[in-house]
Amino acid sequence: MIEGDRVSACRSCGARVIWATSEKSGKALPIDVERVPFRGSIVLRHEVAGEPPVAHYTSKDERAALKAAHERSPEEHRPFALFQSHFASCPSAARWRTGPPAGTTGR
Ligand SMILES: [Zn+2]
Repeated sequence: MIEGDRVSACRSCGARVIWATSEKSGKALPIDVERVPFRGSIVLRHEVAGEPPVAHYTSKDERAALKAAHERSPEEHRPFALFQSHFASCPSAARWRTGPPAGTTGR
């Protein structure tokens, strides 16, 4: 359900990314369009229509709960895959990253 205006290409590597707003910092955050099953730590929430989605970093407990829900009813919760920051996967992230490493927190 995430397409259109929100998807653009990374200027460094050309990968398709979604621009979201980081829940923590309020800053724009590029998110990989392709979700990786059983990896990633970000849930995108569409809180305001017409605004970028909000990137919520899940905690370990939240991920465990999501995984458990998926295992109980795979049809409702499929696929079990979260988003990851493009900072984590961009081959040239080191060149253009300006903030602290994404996805390194969580308790
Ligand atoms: Zn990139």
